[in-house]
Amino acid sequence: MQFHGRLILTGQIQCRTALHIGGASTGIDIGGVDNIVVRNPWNNQPYIPGSSLRGKMRSLLERAYNLELTQKIGPYVRIHRCGREESYRNCPVCVVFGVTSDEDFATPARLQVRDVALEPKTVEILEKLKTTELPYTEVKWEVAIDRITSAANPRQQERVPAGVKFGPFEMVFSFYDDSIDQDLRRFQHLVEAMALLQDDYLGGGGSRGNGKIEFVNMKLEARSREDYREGRPRQEILPEVADLNALVQAETLQKVRQKLASNGK
Ligand SMILES: [Zn+2]
Repeated sequence: MQFHGRLILTGQIQCRTALHIGGASTGIDIGGVDNIVVRNPWNNQPYIPGSSLRGKMRSLLERAYNLELTQKIGPYVRIHRCGREESYRNCPVCVVFGVTSDEDFATPARLQVRDVALEPKTVEILEKLKTTELPYTEVKWEVAIDRITSAANPRQQERVPAGVKFGPFEMVFSFYDDSIDQDLRRFQHLVEAMALLQDDYLGGGGSRGNGKIEFVNMKLEARSREDYREGRPRQEILPEVADLNALVQAETLQKVRQKLASNGK
């Protein structure tokens, strides 16, 4: 196994509907809202944790491939893990998203997903608006109705409003396999997971309208092992990605293959 280089996918995440990614419950109501969003304590702005993006994409791929959920994380969460070397190598999930280190055949997770901050222009707009009590967000009332007594049980949820952009996001995909093509197939699984996510939802309350997102203004770059050694910056593969499909077209994959195969030449 040898490091060949990396693909770096950047862009923005456009919220088509409001987004709720829950923050740590402090036990204290903030502005009377108990169901708050996660915020960066440095500037108090909501952000999308890389782990939320990554976890959702992983679970959607597991479901799409009907993979057995074999590992328990905590009392409620079960995820898939191959557990056997034969299936691991061809698994659409384990190699890309990583497994626990006690499997001695495991290789490094190919994918890193960084946290995504609010896009600067969006920050400016939201700061001018100042229409809500809480900075950068809205508070939505939801009412659950008892089916027999018709008693209402109102709850509040804090959400990032529809139309907001986060960015730049950054996903880094590393190539370690002896076969570049094998890791390229895994990269295609990442793109598949992104497409699944766009038609699903991110965060909480997806069945009630939250969390429709879209990856926009994307750009694909690469940096080979040799580029790192020579101190060369990222090289453009696709300066403008029209849609997710463009990322996995034969031409794009050929460019990546050429770039990473040029190491040591
Ligand atoms: Zn697996």
